[in-house]
Amino acid sequence: MATATAKKVAMVTGGSRGIGFGIAMALAGSGFDLAINGRRDQTEVAEAIGKLQSAGAKVLYLRGDVADRAARAAMLEAVERGFGRLDVLVNNAGVAPETRADLLDASEESFDRLMSINLKGPYFLTQAAARWMVRQRNERGQDWRGCIINISSVSAAVASVNRGDYCISKAGIAMATQLWAARLAEFGIDVYEIRPGIVATDMTAGMREKYDRLIAGGLTVEKRWGTPEDVGRAAAVLARGEISYATGQVLNVDGGMTIRRL
Ligand code: NAD
Repeated sequence: MATATAKKVAMVTGGSRGIGFGIAMALAGSGFDLAINGRRDQTEVAEAIGKLQSAGAKVLYLRGDVADRAARAAMLEAVERGFGRLDVLVNNAGVAPETRADLLDASEESFDRLMSINLKGPYFLTQAAARWMVRQRNERGQDWRGCIINISSVSAAVASVNRGDYCISKAGIAMATQLWAARLAEFGIDVYEIRPGIVATDMTAGMREKYDRLIAGGLTVEKRWGTPEDVGRAAAVLARGEISYATGQVLNVDGGMTIRRL
């Protein structure tokens, strides 16, 4: 193993844009060095990486598909070579269905794609990262703590009949959070879930008018879109270890969308 760097290291999947970038910026501002995963070539993410470096982080870019077993292993090996440590994993990378289709019409291909990127990828990346974190705990002693944050969605609990595959993948992440929280507590590794609501990113760009209307009509208690910075701040609080004795918890960052109202 490479000699561990002094600063804590966080790996953020899908960290070069959208919510993942918001999280990476907040972590850079909290004193973390960063391993950023994405599918694009490094030249295409140079601007994002430059901003993270300006915020004070050393940045390692890991190109790879989280759904691919070999890519996941190669990414963690690169973090180990580059930083010698991993303190925080943020499973953020995810996709929406290519076309929203009613439950009665939706395809198995879309289901398989979403399960492998949104659920299988983070589940097994967590497994591999957790094995390494357990080793770090054994080497560094009881004071070392790890943290894993899963970015799910309000869709983990809110049914949308035109994207059942997405909802099921996010509900699966909710259970994965509880499973890993239960399994890893003895090693000082906290596992949390953040459920964003409607956040302005590339993923929701095509739905701008529809969600503008719904938000104006009272879908959320706070009448505005969520931002990557909203989710970033929440993730940074968890990653800094400021909420203790609360592993397995869900943080809704949704402008009050899931408050039941009458
Ligand atoms: P986005 O499309 O802007 O960004 C997604 C990022 O994930 C991109 O960097 C993309 O390259 C990366 N990615 C996608 N598939 C990948 C793969 N197979 N391997 C590696 N990287 C991959 O989307 P976003 O809105 O920033 O979404 C981030 C996460 O937040 C997703 O998990 C999404 O489901 C979740 N989320 C988004 C919203 C929203 O309203 N935007 C709401 C709730 C939850």
